Amino acid sequence: MTRITPQPGIMDIALYQGGAAHVAGVSNVVKLSSNENPLGPSPRAIDAMQAAAASMNRYPSSDHGALRSAIGEVHGLDPERIICGAGSDEIIAFLCQCFAGPGDEVLYTQHGFAMYRISALAAGATPVEVTERERCVDVDAILAGCTEQTRLVFIANPANPTGTMISEGEVARLADGLPEQALLVLDGAYAEYVEGFDAGAKVVEARDNVVMTRTFSKIYGLGGARVGYGYGPKAIVDVLNRVRGPFNVSVSGLAAAEAAVRDTGYTDHCRAENAKWRSWLAEELAAAGVPSDTSCANFILARFASQDEAEACDEYLKTQGLIVRRVSGYGIPNGLRMTVGDEDSCRRLAAGVKAFKDART
Ligand SMILES: *Cc1c(COP(=O)(O)O)cnc(C)c1O
Repeated sequence: MTRITPQPGIMDIALYQGGAAHVAGVSNVVKLSSNENPLGPSPRAIDAMQAAAASMNRYPSSDHGALRSAIGEVHGLDPERIICGAGSDEIIAFLCQCFAGPGDEVLYTQHGFAMYRISALAAGATPVEVTERERCVDVDAILAGCTEQTRLVFIANPANPTGTMISEGEVARLADGLPEQALLVLDGAYAEYVEGFDAGAKVVEARDNVVMTRTFSKIYGLGGARVGYGYGPKAIVDVLNRVRGPFNVSVSGLAAAEAAVRDTGYTDHCRAENAKWRSWLAEELAAAGVPSDTSCANFILARFASQDEAEACDEYLKTQGLIVRRVSGYGIPNGLRMTVGDEDSCRRLAAGVKAFKDART
């Protein structure tokens, strides 16, 4: 028998399942399974990435100074307290690697994002799931779930795959109620979809136990570029930078992200289009007999009568070239998560769900 064995916890990790992109035998497929921006990246980000191609023989900046300054200017954040990663997934991994290990607990909620558990296990820590209330983060349940071993608490606000969010007051109450050895992580992957929302920056700034993560993968349309960042107390960011690879974000990714964050007009346009088609789609689905919670993000969590019905609808939508996401792995077996696409995709999706429901009644 081999004596070459992985660290404890690693083999408990179930491989992350990305959203499907193809259906065998079906053309004109639209991918609504990964919460990608249907409008694509800002044209300025594409130009910046193309221009960067010529200097790809050079290693990237290791301190990401230009991108951190741009983020700081646009969002009113202190660049000294920003750390950039290969997607915000990498920041989540750094947090677990630095602040949790064997015997430590990493908390997240019932329908929380899959990477929290994966990164906790990868660090050798113990993942702990606490209940939500009606598909919404429950601050009291989190506080009740904390122990002396709790080192990290992750919530996404707005959350994935539920699309719900909690108020700034609730976030502050959570931060202030945590045991003193625990760090709160506010995952703001969808924050830009909420008009006027600072993703929790004020909560971070007023405390020494809160970090927020943000990404260029969602509203900025750069999921393929792999750029995200964290913002937190200087002391925490200093710790994270020690485990960060010096060249963890590529030349092209840095250039694209900087152009994207500065193109606030394009971001505003994407937010407005998303809001318009999100409410249109939610109303159409509700009229077809498929309710959903009010979504604050770029997807809708459609609720069906049963797991059977959700799966049958998923199969039917596939035959129509519409790929959505099953969320039974997130504890919502009767749900399908549907990214808000462009107008044409939303119309096709609404028509598909309606045809499916009509055929069943
Ligand atoms: C999509 C998503 C992310 C972003 O991951 P990246 O690594 O930045 O692409 C983070 N958190 C949540 C909840 C997400 O849905």
